[in-house]
Amino acid sequence: MAKVLIIGAGGVGTVVAHKCAQNPQVFTEIVLASRTLSKCKAIADKIGGGRITPDTVDADSVPQLVELFRRHRPDIVINVALPYQDLTIMDACLECGVNYLDTANYEPKDEAHFEYSWQWAYREKFEKAGLTAILGCGFDPGVSGVFTAYAAKHHFSQMQYLDIVDCNAGDHGKAFATNFNPEINIREITQNGRYWQDGKWVTTGPLEIHRPLTYPNIGPRESYLLYHEELESLVQNYPTIKRARFWMTFGQEYLTHLRVIQNIGMARIDEVDYNGTKIVPLQFLKAVLPNPQDLGENYTGETSIGCRIEGLDKEHHHLTYYIYNNCSHQEAYRETGMQAVSYTTGVPAMIGAMMFLTGKWVKPGVHNVEEFDPDPFMEQLNTQGLPWHEIFNLDLELQ
Ligand code: NDP
Repeated sequence: MAKVLIIGAGGVGTVVAHKCAQNPQVFTEIVLASRTLSKCKAIADKIGGGRITPDTVDADSVPQLVELFRRHRPDIVINVALPYQDLTIMDACLECGVNYLDTANYEPKDEAHFEYSWQWAYREKFEKAGLTAILGCGFDPGVSGVFTAYAAKHHFSQMQYLDIVDCNAGDHGKAFATNFNPEINIREITQNGRYWQDGKWVTTGPLEIHRPLTYPNIGPRESYLLYHEELESLVQNYPTIKRARFWMTFGQEYLTHLRVIQNIGMARIDEVDYNGTKIVPLQFLKAVLPNPQDLGENYTGETSIGCRIEGLDKEHHHLTYYIYNNCSHQEAYRETGMQAVSYTTGVPAMIGAMMFLTGKWVKPGVHNVEEFDPDPFMEQLNTQGLPWHEIFNLDLELQ
């Protein structure tokens, strides 16, 4: 008997709600709360069977969250609202004795800045309270960390080079759209690139380094080096890693739109005065762009996300290794009404909560996913819609 509270009724929240509802043996009661009650009600109606209880909360407010938690008394909260709400939700969890899981590290609203320090500062408080907080349990971060932990456990005695590769080879038919929350997405892509090399961070210009990489069942796609938050915890948890990088594919059309958006100031995150009203240009842009949740119906193609790792195997011989999942936009849409980017985030978030509720990932404190046993999580990926594949001793294309 376990009760889960999902916060955030966007693309990812919709998938989490569907997947929790599909696993009634673990999630006996499911509450879905977001700022807009009607969105939660619509998802609950679509899933049907009285499986989902809709509610409302402004997750920027700790008192409102505490009231919500006291009303429902959940065992764990799955935070799939925006990264801005991570700390308020963690504060409310501490106040009410609720365990915590999210898919994106905390970001202050006025600064696009990605690091775990704010959330890692809660380690002692969660440990003392006997509560588990699982950070970054989507696909990347999330499965990327679990894949790395699985490689370390089963294949490598020493991992030396890690490249996380994320390809979306889908086509949604729009001139420009982002696949998840546009504000969060554009903040992430327009920042400087950064990677780990020989014990320190190397900074690059935004999207400065790129090269074609070949993705299974897709072929070559231009891939751009970005900073991505899981690199921070992975290089700490696996100190033998000499170089860690993150690559994501973008089409030329997407990059041209992005350049124009930046050049005309629409990616700004500071307030500007418009006819006496303060607006943040990037938030205004979000209001006029296609809603990521509406992309699914005509989305074709697939995503391919994985880890390419080089190092020494258990017998200390040289090993190259690629572990990945491909996910079809159409299949994700048929099952949940959402495209593959929301699907590949929501399924792992559900599995992480399942790991906690079934006693496999219970560890008081604040932890990144690679700190837990990867095996039961990997088993669930195969049965919950995200099967994975391994290739040994191949050309990783990444020297
Ligand atoms: P959406 O914008 O589609 O949904 C966000 C939801 O959060 C909305 O329903 C919104 O409610 C709700 N919300 C926003 N602010 C508040 C608030 N103050 N109180 C309560 N609810 C609030 O985003 P996505 O579903 O695309 O993304 C969700 C999260 O998943 C993001 O944090 C994103 O960074 C993360 N993500 C992680 C990935 C990974 O692989 N790790 C990949 C993709 C996304 P309303 O609309 O009612 O205002």
